[in-house]
Amino acid sequence: MQRILTINGGSSSIKFAVFEEVGPERVLEGAIERIGFSDASLWMKGQGSDVFRQIVVPDHGTAVAVLTDSIDCGALAAVGHRVVHGGQRYSKPHLITEKMIDDLQNLGPFDPEHLPEELMLIDAFHRKFPDQKQVACFDTAFHRDLPRVATLLPIPRRFDEKGIRRYGFHGLSYEFLMQELVRLGDTAATSGRVILAHLGNGASLSAVYRGKPLDTSMSFTPASGLMMSTRTGELDPGVAAYLMQSEKLTIEQFSHLVNHESGLLGVSGTSSDMRDLLMRETNDLRAFEAVELFCYQVKKYIGAYAAALGGLDVLVFSGGIGENSAVIRARICEGLAFLGIEIDEKCNAENEPVISGGRVVVRVVHTDEELMIAKSVFSMLESKIDRDNENDNT
Ligand code: ADP
Repeated sequence: MQRILTINGGSSSIKFAVFEEVGPERVLEGAIERIGFSDASLWMKGQGSDVFRQIVVPDHGTAVAVLTDSIDCGALAAVGHRVVHGGQRYSKPHLITEKMIDDLQNLGPFDPEHLPEELMLIDAFHRKFPDQKQVACFDTAFHRDLPRVATLLPIPRRFDEKGIRRYGFHGLSYEFLMQELVRLGDTAATSGRVILAHLGNGASLSAVYRGKPLDTSMSFTPASGLMMSTRTGELDPGVAAYLMQSEKLTIEQFSHLVNHESGLLGVSGTSSDMRDLLMRETNDLRAFEAVELFCYQVKKYIGAYAAALGGLDVLVFSGGIGENSAVIRARICEGLAFLGIEIDEKCNAENEPVISGGRVVVRVVHTDEELMIAKSVFSMLESKIDRDNENDNT
């Protein structure tokens, strides 16, 4: 039976899983966390192993070596990578070639927060297993066909031609959530008006009309839209100009500020973790304000997308916060009865799959980005990847 490995790499972590073809079924999963820090660790579960150990991983190259030493890579039919940005050229899953790596390297400045590390992982695998098939699955794919008006940024035209537009992210998660709605027999997935809220460390919303994405909160990069654990989300460009001038920030310092020092962490001054903030919000005004701002922003997006959709049939909560925090879901939905959104307190408190008590069906769905990567890779293996790439003119 064929097996594949999925890789979901971030700036300081790599989540991985091994899938077997039928299902596909996850037979092993794990993560290398805190890469580059003194307390880096590896955990892994499945196939009789339950491992947790501290490791020394100064960089992503070493992390790949740890990973490939820990699992039987020789038996893999392919490795599937989540790649955050595909730019204008790439959207559907694609066999990784040298040409593609060149293209993605040129795309690096589009998303310096993610692409360089992802390319490093791809390269490290290639060096160790030069004959291994590697497949890129792009987080930008789901929103590829957004209506033109949703993709345009109000800046001079010449930039649109250079690819500076809304791409949207969290596409693997949204694809999974839509498939899940279909599996659950929810007709809104194909013929209704749906808002998907992926609320994790990275957070975004997507509006889907009759099965087609209509708008999404992340834009040219995943730093836009909602405030997140450490990212600002939308920010008045005047603040950028003012800070760069008054604080004499370099591009790198500014980028660090908006990507790593802001959001829940920036407003609370103490933590980027929603659980921490909820625990201390009664005695800590700054933690309270951070949580309040997050819920308020999500609520505003729901209102905006209900307007864009001309009403609403289904609202889906997902991601670590959306799946686990009844308090946050309730606060977001407070006052939205006029849209038909009402929460059943008991179902919400118990994290039931359906938590609504009003006209709009409000669901809690556990997302699975790795499974989406696995499905794409297996279907590419079946359809002879090489020929697919030749025909890909995206
Ligand atoms: P990532 O985007 O890194 O995959 P996750 O989807 O795992 O992140 O979401 C992490 C966020 O979910 C953190 O802010 C964490 O505090 C929050 N979270 C997880 N469980 C709960 C919970 N029970 N209550 C509130 N927040 C939670």
